[in-house]
Amino acid sequence: MSKIAGKLKKVCRRVNIEKAVTADICAARGLQFFKAIMKILKIIKWVLFFIVQWTWGFLQSFLGLMLFIRFRHCKRFGYHGALGVLHDAPFGGVSLGMFFFVNGARDEKWIKESIVHEYGHCVQSLLLGPFYLFVIGIPSIVWCNAKRNIKKRETKGVSYYSFYPEKYANRLGEAVAKESAPSLKSGIPKAFFENKDAPKD
Ligand SMILES: [Zn+2]
Repeated sequence: MSKIAGKLKKVCRRVNIEKAVTADICAARGLQFFKAIMKILKIIKWVLFFIVQWTWGFLQSFLGLMLFIRFRHCKRFGYHGALGVLHDAPFGGVSLGMFFFVNGARDEKWIKESIVHEYGHCVQSLLLGPFYLFVIGIPSIVWCNAKRNIKKRETKGVSYYSFYPEKYANRLGEAVAKESAPSLKSGIPKAFFENKDAPKD
């Protein structure tokens, strides 16, 4: 913002708009206008996000709403147009349309990175619409829970985030939210529903 303010000041000096208005006031007004435009653009982006998720991505948004009601007692927050919930159930995370759910009992770093990852799935829903559940949702659930896949990850040390729905969720989440998603080395619980004895990674 200070860079923009500096540039605006230079422009104001060059143009010498009103003699009574100093370059500083002119720059401040310009900056105010720029901030207002950015705010409006952000609102438009969020409204579009909402409309597309509830039309093109209706199926998963509807399922997400059901889960959102189920976890209505948990902490909720807005995140780049999506609605996040820090749930208290024994599973890691899930994303459905404009809603995503992250286990609020985990450590801060895991929660922060998982929010970016789950938000990446929201963006996938935006792009894939009615195909989301088939292209991302079901393969992701099978990859997470099938015994064969759990064994593969454990014995061969394959990262959970190396499978395409997870890998692209990380990339999209990072690209849009400009925050860090889990790395390939990050672990997840052995299955979607945690084993009480399993390490909480
Ligand atoms: Zn995922």
